[in-house]
Amino acid sequence: MTIQWYPGHMAKAKRQMIEKIKQIDVVIELVDSRIPSSSRNPLVEEISSGKPRLLLMNKIDMADRQATKQWKEDFEDQGLTVHLVNSQTGQGVATIPDAVHKLTAARRKKLEKRGFRPHADRALILGIPNVGKSTLINRLAGKKIAKIGDRPGVTKAQQWIKVGSTMELLDTPGILWPKFEDPRVGLCLAATGAIKEELLDFQEIALFLLKTMLTHYREPLAERYTLEDLPELAGTEEDQDVLIRLFDDIGRKRGCLMSGGYIDYDRVSEIIVRDYRSQKLGPLTLEWP
Ligand code: GDP
Repeated sequence: MTIQWYPGHMAKAKRQMIEKIKQIDVVIELVDSRIPSSSRNPLVEEISSGKPRLLLMNKIDMADRQATKQWKEDFEDQGLTVHLVNSQTGQGVATIPDAVHKLTAARRKKLEKRGFRPHADRALILGIPNVGKSTLINRLAGKKIAKIGDRPGVTKAQQWIKVGSTMELLDTPGILWPKFEDPRVGLCLAATGAIKEELLDFQEIALFLLKTMLTHYREPLAERYTLEDLPELAGTEEDQDVLIRLFDDIGRKRGCLMSGGYIDYDRVSEIIVRDYRSQKLGPLTLEWP
C-alpha cells in the first residue's frame, strides 16, 4: 500500500499518534535494515514523548550482515535498545515481549511503590510504510489481524492483542511518513520500494544501485550480470561515463536493445531495480552509519 503524504496529512497523523501514545508504555519503532537511517522518521523521538522505545531492525534477511552489525552498534551507542528481526519468518520475534518488559521496569517499580499493581506492558508499532509493520503484528498475534479500518467512514475500535503473559499490542500500527527532503534518502526509499516509483526515475534509482554496488558489493554485481573487469569509480565527473558503459554492458548481456542496436536504458534500469528488490543481487545494505 502506498500513501501519498501532504502537509495536512502529516500534521493529522502526528496529532493522532501523539494521542495514541498516551495510552501506551513502550513505542516499538520498526526500520528496514537495508536503509536503517532513511527508513526512520525523525519525529519519532518527539512523538514518543519520553516513553521508552525499542528499535527493531526488520528484514535482516535482506540486508548485509556486517552492515547490520555496524548499525546496531551505532544505534546502541546512541542509547537505543535494538533488536534484529525477520518478521516474515519470525526470527528474533519471540524475544520482543521480554525486551519490552525490561523497558517498563522503572514504571512498574514506581507503581508498585505506590501500592498499585501494574497492568500489562502496552506497546504500539510505529514506522514508515512498507517496513513490515503489519507482518510483524500478525507474527506477534500469531494470526492475521483483519484490516477493518480500510473502509472509508468506518472507524474501527482499537483492540489490544495479548502477546505472551506480559505484553499487549495495539492491533493497528502507527504509520509515519517517510523523509522527503534529502535526495539520497529518496533514492534509498525508492530502491527498496518504500515510496511510489512514479515519483522517481527508474534510471536514477538504477544508477544509485550500480554506484553503491561498484563501491561496496562488486562481487555480487559481477556475478549477477557475468561482468568481467568491473570498472572503478574515481569520485570524479568521469564516473558518469563509467556508469553509462556499465549500463551498456549489462544491457547487451540482457538483450535490452532497441532498433538500431541502441541500449534500452529504461529496460536495463528496471531489470537492475527489480533484481535488487527481489534479492537477486543478494542481501545488500544501501547506507552505513
Ligand atoms: P507495512 O506497510 O509496514 O505494514 O509493511 P508490510 O507488513 O505490509 O510489509 C511490506 C513487505 O515487506 C511485505 O511484502 C512483507 O512480506 C515484507 N516483509 C516484512 N517483513 C519482512 C522481513 O523481515 N523480511 C522480508 N524478506 N520481507 C519482509
